[in-house]
Amino acid sequence: MTKKENCISVIIVEDFKLTRVGLRCALNSNADIDVVAEAEDAASGLEKISKLKPAVVLMDLGLPKMNGIEAIIKLREFSKDIKIIALTSHDREEEVVAALSSGANAYCLKDIDPEKLADVIRDVNNGVCWLDPLIAGYALNSIPKVGDSALIGEHANPHNQVPLTEREQEVLKHLVAGKSNTEIAKELIVSVHTAKAHVCSILQKMCVNDRVQAAVKAVKEGMV
Ligand code: CA
Repeated sequence: MTKKENCISVIIVEDFKLTRVGLRCALNSNADIDVVAEAEDAASGLEKISKLKPAVVLMDLGLPKMNGIEAIIKLREFSKDIKIIALTSHDREEEVVAALSSGANAYCLKDIDPEKLADVIRDVNNGVCWLDPLIAGYALNSIPKVGDSALIGEHANPHNQVPLTEREQEVLKHLVAGKSNTEIAKELIVSVHTAKAHVCSILQKMCVNDRVQAAVKAVKEGMV
């Protein structure tokens, strides 16, 4: 059943069979990706994940009984290394926003192009985080805007950190838009190495661990 040793092993947790089968077929058509197991609910998914220890988990957020967010939190209790891609639908805006702090490495909408999903799997497997631009938009809509009374107080001084340079602010915008280092490098006409260095500096200055956290924080604090 298993493909090659050096394939990226993937487990799909999704209750809707047609979606599950579609994902498996689309992903297995990539020579470097191997779907090693599937589960239709969170409990059996977590069991398979702890047993098979895949490199990447595709976790549907809308699952029966235990939902995907709870499942991600539980998964993080026994593994910090397994990469998690949260999958969700357009009509679950509140759920998506709630999921942003659950500990997933990427947040994708289910209508993502299969080739892009394969790329996201490769990226998260390499330690890169990814946020669908539409999901970033949801996060943006969910936070109070400047002038809202809720903003005064808790977020009255959102920039009490080392300020970003103009260039870093530009990079941050691309980061919030879900762009990869390669895409950012192309946009700014710099090397990937330089783009990566900007991203590292941004993460440090913003006191966050990864680009998803940076994007969420940037959106929350109105930095972009
Ligand atoms: Ca579902």
